Amino acid sequence: MTDTQGTNETIFNKIIRKEIPADIVYEDDLCLAFKDINPQAPIHILLIPKKPIVKLSDADESDSNLLGHLMCVVGVITCQLRIQDAFRLVVNNGADAGQTVFHLHLHILSGRDFSWPPG
Ligand code: AMP
Repeated sequence: MTDTQGTNETIFNKIIRKEIPADIVYEDDLCLAFKDINPQAPIHILLIPKKPIVKLSDADESDSNLLGHLMCVVGVITCQLRIQDAFRLVVNNGADAGQTVFHLHLHILSGRDFSWPPG
């Protein structure tokens, strides 16, 4: 997960740097949102911080403003997509919880019914 320079290089970093294509729906100085390549719902957006935090549990107090910003951007994106009244937000934290890309990301899912408890 860590390259020779000690940074966390993932496919999402390449998307941030525009080295590989993505269907981007939102971008600002701190974060980027794009359509998931393997959607699990009719609408499936990934929202990522540009800072390469490996997983949510690696964030610390210095990331508080960034994490709060991500939550506010969820509101912006869901309003933009007109799904603000019905979406699910998912963070898989760690391989055993289903995380496959080790750069923090929020899944925004909408457009179908969701069961509870989640699978
Ligand atoms: P997770 O399993 O929580 O780590 O989620 C990783 C997500 O990244 C999965 O839903 C993948 O479909 C998605 N994904 C992986 N590569 C890409 C890509 N190049 N563009 C868009 N989504 C991707």
